[in-house]
Amino acid sequence: MLTDAFQRQIEYLRISLTDKCNLRCRYCVPPDGVKLRSHEDILSLEEILRVVSLMTDMGVKRVRFTGGEPLIRKNALGLIRDVASLPSHPMIAMTTNGVFLPEYIDDLYEAGLRDINISLDTLRADVYEMITGSDDLGKVLRSIDMCLDKGMSVKINVVPLQGINEDDLEDLAQMARTKVDAVRFIELMPIGCANAYKGLSNDDVKERLKAIYGVGSGTCAPGIISGPAEYVTYEGFKGKVGFISPLSHKFCDRCNRIRLTCDGRLRLCLASDQSIDLKTLLRSGASDETIKEAITEGVKGKNRCHGFNDRNDTRSNMIGIGG
Ligand code: SAM
Repeated sequence: MLTDAFQRQIEYLRISLTDKCNLRCRYCVPPDGVKLRSHEDILSLEEILRVVSLMTDMGVKRVRFTGGEPLIRKNALGLIRDVASLPSHPMIAMTTNGVFLPEYIDDLYEAGLRDINISLDTLRADVYEMITGSDDLGKVLRSIDMCLDKGMSVKINVVPLQGINEDDLEDLAQMARTKVDAVRFIELMPIGCANAYKGLSNDDVKERLKAIYGVGSGTCAPGIISGPAEYVTYEGFKGKVGFISPLSHKFCDRCNRIRLTCDGRLRLCLASDQSIDLKTLLRSGASDETIKEAITEGVKGKNRCHGFNDRNDTRSNMIGIGG
């Protein structure tokens, strides 16, 4: 078991496979882009596999691939296959913008991926283009249908933004009525370029949905599968609507996650630069035991709670962390 100083068990590893993305979501990527890491600075797929293998030995049960855009990483499929074949059999998931899924969906399914989160903030092409800088909305909608046709678990992640996609929230929630397993509203976190925008509190989002769908009933306490979301089911809905509210309803006391950035840092909290430099260790010829020891010790330094409500993070951008 990997346990921090506050007795939280770390069971969930999010892995950013790359800092590159095909989209330019305004609140995630700064207007002048980000300085991309060089090839040597990025962990190889073998190095990532080794970290996953060690961490699943230590109690990690769930692995999520993210980015940048994870499907941009060359041979991400091979890594997913290898992780799925580990004797520890971790649960595998991916967070993607969905644009490249039509090309990869068959192979991803064959590699063992069954759980996918697709980020989608609007159903209107003009707003999609305004947020992401791309006209790929049709591809994303097709991807969602393709994943559903395969019988995969599909969750839609939405970041509500004041004055930008406020009018889309009801329609996006509607996708959980007949289509997807869950639509989840995530409060905008004040990281880097996101500070130029205002998010909506999930209390406001719930009020808006209540006017149309009623109060709903609570389901599924946050946990290793459901993550930090509080889920609600509305009458007549097949799927759930989730609210991830790091600002209005902190869930740090239940935080069970840790993040591996593409340059090999094990980041202890989304809101803090505190990290363990695994890349240097991996490349110094360290033994498995030495690396495990560094992780065990390092994790003890995980903050009790994020500091987003007191200060904004102006140094990082979400594209470099992976959400
Ligand atoms: N490219 C992939 C995608 O779009 O899903 C994975 C990486 S992206 C950084 C992961 C998630 O982080 C997306 O759902 C995105 O909307 C969310 N995100 C980015 N910046 C955020 C912020 N400041 N606050 C909350 N969520 C954010």
